[in-house]
Parts: sequence; structure tokens; C-alpha cells
Amino acid sequence: MLLPSRELLFTTSSSPSAPPSLASSCSYALFVAARCYCSRYTLICSLPTRLIINKCIALLQGCCITATEGRLKPIHAFALRHGVHPSNPDFGKHFIFTLVSLSLPMNYASLVFSQLEYPSVFTWNTMIRGHAEGETPESAIGIHRQMLGSEVRPDTHTYPFLLKACARMLDVRRGEAVHGQSLKDGLEALVVVQNTLVHMYSACGQAELAYQLFGEMPTRNLVSWNSVVNGFAQNGRPNEALTLFRQMEMEGMKPDGFTVVSILSACAELGSLALGRRIHVYLLKVGLSENLHVGNALVDLYGKCGNIRDAYQVFVEMPERNVVSWTTMIVSLAVHGFAEEAISLFDDFESERLTPTDITFVGVLCACSHAGLVAEGFGYFEKMKQYKIVPKIEHYGCMVDLLGRAGLVRRAHDFIVEMPVEPNAIVWRTLLGACAIHGQLELGEFARARLLQLEPRHSGDFVLLSNIYANEGRWFDVQRIRSKMLREGVKKSPGHSIVELRNSIHEFIMGDRSHPQTKEIYEMLDEIGKRLELEGYVPQTSNVLADIDVEEKANALAYHSERIAIAFMLINTVAGSTIRVVKNLRVCVDCHTATKLIAKIFDREIVVRDRSRFHHFRDGFCSCKDFW
Ligand code: ZN
Ligand code: ZN
Repeated sequence: MLLPSRELLFTTSSSPSAPPSLASSCSYALFVAARCYCSRYTLICSLPTRLIINKCIALLQGCCITATEGRLKPIHAFALRHGVHPSNPDFGKHFIFTLVSLSLPMNYASLVFSQLEYPSVFTWNTMIRGHAEGETPESAIGIHRQMLGSEVRPDTHTYPFLLKACARMLDVRRGEAVHGQSLKDGLEALVVVQNTLVHMYSACGQAELAYQLFGEMPTRNLVSWNSVVNGFAQNGRPNEALTLFRQMEMEGMKPDGFTVVSILSACAELGSLALGRRIHVYLLKVGLSENLHVGNALVDLYGKCGNIRDAYQVFVEMPERNVVSWTTMIVSLAVHGFAEEAISLFDDFESERLTPTDITFVGVLCACSHAGLVAEGFGYFEKMKQYKIVPKIEHYGCMVDLLGRAGLVRRAHDFIVEMPVEPNAIVWRTLLGACAIHGQLELGEFARARLLQLEPRHSGDFVLLSNIYANEGRWFDVQRIRSKMLREGVKKSPGHSIVELRNSIHEFIMGDRSHPQTKEIYEMLDEIGKRLELEGYVPQTSNVLADIDVEEKANALAYHSERIAIAFMLINTVAGSTIRVVKNLRVCVDCHTATKLIAKIFDREIVVRDRSRFHHFRDGFCSCKDFW
């Protein structure tokens, strides 16, 4: 018996014109359209229901294969017209699956689901998957709870989707609860469940736990390796990611696109250009280099390793580019101080009619900031409105930085006071940093007072303020700050510099004497000192955090981590080759001056990546034009 069922879909709502459960206009439009489409026909066909269902299922499968949602409306209308309602378990199951596979908003699928009397485990799983992959991952947990209250038991597919939802929410507590549930159901030992457990713990920042689980797996596949490697790469543990990658190679496991994207990001973080290049060669060999995500990771790698030319070459040769590619290139140019190039690339990007993201604007504002382009910076800040991007705290931070670096410290302060969002510690620290550079004691103390309320134990703030006092020769105040740090147990985060030599990473801290080549390194430092003196170099000792005598201060500067790293590279690399150093803190004024001269004396290009940007030292000059 066929029902005139076209109104049935609205039975759960009070008013057909505005069903309350349909939050999304998209779903609602789909609904109304199907209904209108249907109402055009008055004749109800009398084909047997089973045939109609089979026909609809075949059509829905066609939508999934071709990934087109346009045909959903006619199919829905066709079904209604022939009395087949989505509450039919068979049609409903395929209808929900199609909606989820096409990544459509979940409210339509939810509505259909709510009308199914006995959904199968497949349909429950499809709903969990839809939420886990969609905009409401927390609803996946709710669906699972409902499922446990029904007669259907979770199966092998339920937990991977649930864990995916926990990973998306970055909710390790929920993840642990799901992990416990999977143990109870005896499904935890399945590779597919274990892989998603490793992924979930990695995504939630629990790289150790992920690694522990990985170690306990009886069977590992490529997905397992990728999850654990990515876990370390994304959680600031690039060394561990690279070690695992080597282990993976040794065990004969061939990497795929996902693996190399993780590894390239680990190399980028470490500034490991040689290994990154080796992977690039491998990618060219196996034909993975044309993959969009791999291309983006390569642009990021070369940019972060100080090789902006190669970054640009990869970018221009990419067969396909998306917003991420453009944004990565713009940000790379900006942090290298190529402000005009970054801005011109942004113009090209706009002429391609692509829509910038908030991060694209961070790149453009950062370019203006590093180049001292104040008016242009404000122009781009205004332009965000045109793209309906509401400035975030990062953008306000960029503007404070822009003003501060340009020496407009008072304007930077006024900007902070007037901005519509609550300034965070980073914004106040940016102002404090500008005060330290431009010797603005009064405003510096004001910023410091705000910082004391927000992050009282941040060592960098103690150092910045003491530098302001040191600049003015107020050694009593420097001593006072230093005693406060000692009393409160605040430790200054140690500066370290990393260099790469023949596939190995070497890390140096200030005054480091732990390296096997220490003797040669300090002989080289002595030679550098003598040759610098001949060039007329006088150490700028005011930034040293201590009331110590001048000679001692000069020594403390000579042994800053990047100088030791540079000396090490001068001994171990051939004449004329580029030296690349990655430093975790900002380069001090004195090291900046000395490095310019070292580049000239030894005829080397020295590229230093510090906390905020790149410096290309060559022939007595730096690409930042002494503005950083
Ligand atoms: Zn220094
Ligand atoms: Zn510089």
C-alpha cells in the first residue's frame, strides 16, 4: 500500500514553514525544494515499493560515486512521490549514508535518523561518523550513548569514529573513557581501533601515551606508523618524529604522503635542511612531489629552513595551489623580511580571486611590521573588513608590533588601550619588547605591571625589564630584578642554537663546553674575537643581565649560543658555503653586529632564524636592515 507521504517528513515539527529542528538553512532549502519538486506531480505511481527503494538506492549510490549533491532533491522527491519515506529503514540507511558521505550538515541526517524505528549498527555508525567528521564532533558521543541504550551493540567501526571525534575535540578525558569502553567490549585489540587510539592520544598532545600504545601493538601497519610519527611532529617533538621515521625505514615500511608531510614539518621545525632535501629527492623519485599537501609542506620546509629561493621555486612549480600554499609563501617571505615581495604576492593572490584567511593577513601584517610599513599595515588591517574577517588577538598583536618596531611606542600603547578585545600577555610583552629596544622606561614599567597580573613568572619579562634598566645604567634595579627571579625560582629560558652538519643536528647553549670539538671551537672563537677587534668591533655590553665588569660581559657575549654554533660551522664546512643557524630566542644586538662582521671577514652567508624572523647576513649587512 502506497502512502501519500510527502508531508510525512514534517510530522516532527509544529509548523511546516519553519521546522524548529532544521537549524541549517541549507538543509531546510533541500527539504522545501524536495517538497516543491514533488508537489508538481499529482499522479502517484503504483510501482511496487521494493522496486522503488532499489531504484532510489541505486540513484543514491550514484550520488556518492560522483560526489554530487544536486541530484539528492529529485531523488528525495521521487521517493516521496512513490510513497517511500526516509523512515523506511533501508532507504533511510542509504539516505543518511549519502548525506554523510557528501559531508552535508548533520541536521538533515539527524532528522531522518530520528524517524527510523530500528536503525542498524551500520546506520548508528554512519551517524557517529557524520558528527565525528562534521562540525559537531561532541554529538558523536551523544549518539554513542543513545546507541548503548538501544539493543544494538557497537562493532569494529564504532570506536574508530568515536575516537576520531575525541581527537577532533582534543578531549583526552573523553578519549580515555572511550578507550575504556572499547576494552569492555573486547574491541581494543583490533588494529583499526589501536590505530585510532594512537591518533587520538597524539592529537590530544599525549605523544608519550600514543608511543606506548604503539609499542604494545602486535601488528603495525602504515596507518599506525603515521599516527605515532605525526603525534611527535605535531607536539613539538621533531627529534622523536625523525628517529621513528628512521626506524620505520629500517623496518622496510614505505612512507606515503601523510608520513612525508609529518616528516617535512619536523624537519621544518628543526631547520633540518639536508634531511628535508633528501626527502624532497625521494618524493620526486616516487612521484609524490606533485601532491598539493606535500607541496605546501615543502614550501613551509624551505621557508623555515632559511632557503626562501627554493621555497619560492616549489611554490611556482606546484601544479595546483590552494589558500594554504599562498598563505605559507606569504608568511615565509614576511618572516624573511621580504616585505615588498610578500605584499606583491598578496596582490597576485587577490587577483586570482581567492579568499584570504585570517592567517594570510597575519602574514601580510607581519611583512609590514618587519619592513616598518606603518601606513600600509593599517591599510591591510582595514582591508580585513572587506573579507568579513574579524581581527583576532594575533592581528592586534601584529599592529602593536608594527607600531612598536617603528618606534611609535606611545601609539602602540594607545592602540592596546583602545582595542576592542582584552589584551593578552603576548600583546603586553610585545609592548615591553618595543620599550626595551627604544629605551622607554616608563611605558616599559607600565607593560610589566600588566604582565605581572597575567603571567607573573615569565622569565622573558624579567629579562626585558632588566635590559631596560641596564640600558640606563640602573644596576641597582637590574640586581633587584635578578634577586626577585632567584627568590621566586624563575629560571631564564636558556638560549640554544641548532646547526646541521652532514645529516646530524648539533645543539649549543651559551658557554657550551660539552661538544667533542670544544677545544677547536674555542680556538676558533678566539680567532674570531681577534679578527673582529681588527675590524673595529666593540662589544655592546648593555644587554647583559648582570652587574659584572666590562671584560666579563664581553666574554659572556662571545659565548652566546649562536656564536659557538657559527664557530663550529666555520671549522667543519668548506669555504664559501652558507651557514644556517636556528636560535630559540631573539638575537641580541651585539651578536647581530658581530655576525654581520663575521659574514664579511670569513666571506660566508650566515642565515640565522631567531624567535621572530630570519636574518641573512652577508658582506657586513643583514637583510633585516637592523630592524628586528
Ligand atoms: Zn647574543
Ligand atoms: Zn638582522
